[in-house]
Amino acid sequence: MINLEVPRKLEPLIGQAHQVAAEVLRPISRKYDRAEHEYPKELDMLAAAIDGMEDALGGTGAGGVSAPGPAEGGGDNRNGSNMSTVLSIMEMCWGDVGLLLSLPRQGLGNSAIASVASDEQRERFAGRWAAMAITEPAAGSDSAAIRTTAVLDGDEYVLNGEKIFVTSGERADLIVVWATLDPTKGREAIKSFVVERSNPGLKLDRLEHKLGIRASDTANFVLTDCRVPKEDLLGDPDIAEGFAGAMKTFDNTRPLVAAMAVGLARACLEVAREQLPAVDYDRPAFAQSAAAAELLSLEADYEAARLITLEAAWMADNGKPNSLQASMAKAKAGRGCVDIGLRCVELCGSVGYGEGELLEKWARDAKILDIFEGTQQIQLLIVARLLLGKTSAELR
Ligand SMILES: Cc1cc2nc3c(=O)[nH]c(=O)nc-3n(C[C@H](O)[C@H](O)[C@H](O)COP(=O)(O)OP(=O)(O)OC[C@H]3O[C@@H](n4cnc5c(N)ncnc54)[C@H](O)[C@@H]3O)c2cc1C
Repeated sequence: MINLEVPRKLEPLIGQAHQVAAEVLRPISRKYDRAEHEYPKELDMLAAAIDGMEDALGGTGAGGVSAPGPAEGGGDNRNGSNMSTVLSIMEMCWGDVGLLLSLPRQGLGNSAIASVASDEQRERFAGRWAAMAITEPAAGSDSAAIRTTAVLDGDEYVLNGEKIFVTSGERADLIVVWATLDPTKGREAIKSFVVERSNPGLKLDRLEHKLGIRASDTANFVLTDCRVPKEDLLGDPDIAEGFAGAMKTFDNTRPLVAAMAVGLARACLEVAREQLPAVDYDRPAFAQSAAAAELLSLEADYEAARLITLEAAWMADNGKPNSLQASMAKAKAGRGCVDIGLRCVELCGSVGYGEGELLEKWARDAKILDIFEGTQQIQLLIVARLLLGKTSAELR
């Protein structure tokens, strides 16, 4: 049974993540919001410290649904690397989402590797920074529409195509590229390949200018006869193994994005709470001021998003299929943080809108969390399919 208390063994990790967020990320938050595309060099030292923390705590990178973490308290209640990653991400994103996304070796591609790679591949790619390249000009929400091809030629796959909106694409060491082994076979033929960023067949085309998370680079690539060693296809090369293998990644990464949203939402709520007259938690919302009632309602949304996110991570740690909870968490927390960000700006008036506080920036940063790793609409579609027992062909 899930225990919704924060696991005691993770308290030091949460404390350290909070300290980093408060003392390293927040002080440079505005600087890298203004200096878009400039590399946040302060993060290099921090990344080395985080590597040390992970070694000491037995690893904090999300382990994926296929790799339950170490048990705490025995029985069927494990709090492993998914739980520790989600909790530390919440703290770090209370600091800054864009900077968290820019942290070396903590990319979404790393979670993809953790989810679907073989043990040998996991070992080989350990300690490298991996971005994830799924989206293409004609394949966003519908990832089964991917057109990038991978053709086996001797001991190498040859990749051709275009990838857009790759978070950390400029800075990462590796790019996990989704490509199809056979465009006539639909989604079953889609596999992921680990491509070295230095591969001459992978050309960075441009970097995006964005509404929010400006500290994070977002790159577009062209792959031209990009040759990748056969053993760098992640997981099973057999087409019969199917799309489900690649989709497993999302069960692992959606709770992470939900955790980013939860951390950002908490930051917004704290500023609003400081600005407003005290809220009385012992009296009903309707017996207080309209502003207090609004804040209480936002806090309830935040709490619901936090709990479903913890549940999705806990299920992954316990080897339980969590697609439903992962999408619910992403939908609830993604929409929740956009709402909370904007409504806190409203509640705080000119303080919320001005650049004196970080609230206006957080309201901008929030929107991406309801878009990438599957938009709000796509998460609701997945939840509906899973609850109604419909296939993607039956409900689209
Ligand atoms: C800053 C940023 C960083 C990103 N990072 C990455 C990354 O690292 N790797 C990566 O691969 N991608 C990344 N993306 C891409 C992101 O995952 C896609 O933008 C997202 O999946 C949506 O795809 P799209 O933009 O093509 O929108 P579309 O798929 O064209 O959708 C447009 C709108 O239509 C809605 N819609 C689509 N289909 C349906 C449907 N069936 N039912 C109801 N509504 C529907 C969508 O919800 C959306 O509101 C990033 C994007 C941004 C902006």
